[in-house]
Amino acid sequence: MTARYAVFGNPIAHSKSPRIHAAFAAQTGQDLHYEARLAPLDGFAAAVRQFMAEGGQGANVTVPFKEEAFRLCDALSPRARAAGAVNTLSLADGRICGDNTDGAGLVQDLEANLGCPLAGRRILLLGAGGAARGAILPLLERRPASLQIANRSPAKAQALAAEFSAGADLPVGGGSFEALAGRQFDLLINATSASLGGAALPLPAGLFAPGSLAYDMMYGQGDTPFLAQARAAGAARLADGLGMLVEQAAEAFQVWRGQRPETGALLARLRAELQG
Ligand code: NDP
Repeated sequence: MTARYAVFGNPIAHSKSPRIHAAFAAQTGQDLHYEARLAPLDGFAAAVRQFMAEGGQGANVTVPFKEEAFRLCDALSPRARAAGAVNTLSLADGRICGDNTDGAGLVQDLEANLGCPLAGRRILLLGAGGAARGAILPLLERRPASLQIANRSPAKAQALAAEFSAGADLPVGGGSFEALAGRQFDLLINATSASLGGAALPLPAGLFAPGSLAYDMMYGQGDTPFLAQARAAGAARLADGLGMLVEQAAEAFQVWRGQRPETGALLARLRAELQG
């Protein structure tokens, strides 16, 4: 019988997830159907329960429902608990289990696709919203030299740093953009949504160490505003979040189907389409 999955969001028409999972299913020979479902802003939980009642075995969750999905779950994986958000739901014995594959997708993209090992690196994480929070534990697990979190509202970055430094035996700091003055980083990750509005971040000069990689979780045609800013500021390498999108999907596919699909060819195809 065909296994059924869906992605829930609002809006959802733009989602690439149905295409990505159809490609994974074809590649691995698995019999599954994956669709995009628009959930009403006040009707996410009902939409998920309806889908499960129709035979749905699992779902992805995107903006703006990841935190509501976290609250909906009967059980949570450690990485979902750390993220405070869920992007992958699975039905097991009638219980809804929540996982978060965004951070693992980011790490996989950085290390496997971009050849940027995280161990020993000085990492700067820009932003303190859901995407930043979900990235922290997977980043720390790779044993960087340090992790600094900077945010427009510095108190949020400080709170995240306090929370995650408790269990970490490496320096985890948090604060404002201005407080970064005089520091250098090997990897700078933009997890703010500033690029969506075309805004540059008020970053001090000199943050990019020689050989540094600038990574924007957002993706699009050409440089995102953050990547344009990083290029001008001397970043040696630039990457956007298309690889993270594909890798978080591969991780979700593994959670559901027990098999991790190969991602390189699909990522290259999506990249070529994006560049038009
Ligand atoms: P949230 O709304 O939870 O957080 C937004 C963050 O951006 C906050 O830290 C906020 O700061 C900051 N911010 C917003 N506008 C500005 C601005 N003009 N200048 C400086 N900081 C700003 O969003 P998410 O964490 O869910 O998403 C962040 C980004 O990550 C989005 O671009 C999203 O598309 C991307 N993403 C990509 C994924 C992928 O697979 N490639 C997966 C998940 C997310 P403050 O706290 O001060 O408001």
